[in-house]
Amino acid sequence: MSIQHHPSDETLLRYAAGRLPVAPGLVVATHLSGCVECRARVATFEAMGGSLLEQVTPEPMEPEALARLLAQIDAPAPPPRAPAPRKPLPTLPGGILLPRALRHCEMGRWRWLGPGVRASSLTIAQDPSARLTLLRVGPGRKLPEHGHTGLEFTQILSGSFSDGFGRYRPGDLSEMDSEIDHQPIVDPEGECICLTAMEGEMRIGGMFGRLLTSFARI
Ligand SMILES: [Zn+2]
Repeated sequence: MSIQHHPSDETLLRYAAGRLPVAPGLVVATHLSGCVECRARVATFEAMGGSLLEQVTPEPMEPEALARLLAQIDAPAPPPRAPAPRKPLPTLPGGILLPRALRHCEMGRWRWLGPGVRASSLTIAQDPSARLTLLRVGPGRKLPEHGHTGLEFTQILSGSFSDGFGRYRPGDLSEMDSEIDHQPIVDPEGECICLTAMEGEMRIGGMFGRLLTSFARI
């Protein structure tokens, strides 16, 4: 199935430059693992960044640093390390695996967030304050309603939802800014599991918003 909804070029450029916060960066990384088109764009942006760096005149090197560098080059290569055993990825409801991009995250237990809505908080070792959430929303249910002050990124892992901008299926990424008032509703065919993160502060809206905010603070 072809992917219809992608991150914006601005987001891919920020990702390529390492300028996206950790949680939105992981949502984008999950999208990239399934999207050849966006991977190619990120590679182009990275190459552009590299050529920009090459135009910058390098600082003259300290003699000691040069000697250390030459010593490293002359030193025999260390023996290859045995690959670390791969930890099996947790399984999500419906039998799908947690995306590999999230393999370093600790998945919390599913918590009730409202009728037909459950959420699991993912803890990111490198930034425990980052908010990355898995949502599991029943058929015909609305995704938690909330406002936010920055961009919101939602990657569909299974099932589908629709909003005023179209239908989002597995592999699609919804990128919404705070100016847009959208209300995604899960399609009637089945449950939808998605990964979501946002930049900026969340503004409370409705019962789900309050629940989601209190949940995110746990
Ligand atoms: Zn894409």
